[in-house]
Amino acid sequence: MTRFRLPLRLAVSLIVLLGVITASALLAPPLASAASYPNYGQRNAAVWSLQKKLVEAGVLRADRRTGYFGTHTRSAVKTIQKRSRLAATGKLDAPTARAVDKAVAAMTGPRTWYHRETIGTSAEGRKIVAYRAGQPGKPVVVVTATMHGEEDFGQYVVRGLMEGKPITGVDLWLVPVLNPDGLAKDRRWLDHRVDLNRNFPNRFVVRANSGPKAASAKETRAVMSFLDRVQPRYLVSWHQPLYGVDSYRVKDKALMKRLSAGLALPVKSLNCHGSCHGTMTGWYNANHAGAAITVEYGAKARSMKRMKGKDADAVLAAVGGRRG
Ligand SMILES: [Zn+2]
Repeated sequence: MTRFRLPLRLAVSLIVLLGVITASALLAPPLASAASYPNYGQRNAAVWSLQKKLVEAGVLRADRRTGYFGTHTRSAVKTIQKRSRLAATGKLDAPTARAVDKAVAAMTGPRTWYHRETIGTSAEGRKIVAYRAGQPGKPVVVVTATMHGEEDFGQYVVRGLMEGKPITGVDLWLVPVLNPDGLAKDRRWLDHRVDLNRNFPNRFVVRANSGPKAASAKETRAVMSFLDRVQPRYLVSWHQPLYGVDSYRVKDKALMKRLSAGLALPVKSLNCHGSCHGTMTGWYNANHAGAAITVEYGAKARSMKRMKGKDADAVLAAVGGRRG
């Protein structure tokens, strides 16, 4: 019997240790310990995640999320501190970190969606998530963003549709991030420098960033099977920074005009500098009854309030939806 005692005690201590580690991980504040608070002049992952929160809190413009803690970030932190009646030092500490989290929560409205599903996983195992809002039985509409990972403004329009007053008149599917690996790494590409928007099986041409063959990327296949399944009447795909609503080979001109007017973006022929091969919208338009269209924000981000509010509602109106 005694020979089992030691391994058993070891096992018990290990379980206790694991429990302590798990509990402390769960209890850790979102912005970690004081030692790891980002500081002015630094460029690192902690600055990056602080800036993401400041952007979402509406105090830092989205194009100023650079990973570098400079004057814009410092004044955004000061804004939060003033609002929370803390000393406006521009420096992170525990009360400021809590105030940042509170400010993000205050900018997040009640959710409109009632269903969430993973439509695929990225090359690195991140989930590609779709949210369903609106009314089943109404015309199906899909709005997507961030298929190029560094183009992260459009996801806030999509999130605007995921929040606020309930949506009616459309059966809305929302995919804020098509390329989660790209977003996590602030890069355009999927794995192996493949451009998701050159990998679809429509007018596919092998180029440096097309992938070796059409639909070679997991993400492309995930998006294809999702769109084949839900068959949207309208598919609106957000990019940046070309600042316009695309008229190149446009399938539904009326939709194009409604988006252009509602979003105050000019109609433009965005012909990918002559290389619109293997694009998602091209593939969708060629193989489905519905109409897909590209919308591009500019290089300078609009305010969070505008993207999540007025612009999200302009898209909703353009595709035949309403609030409430
Ligand atoms: Zn793009």
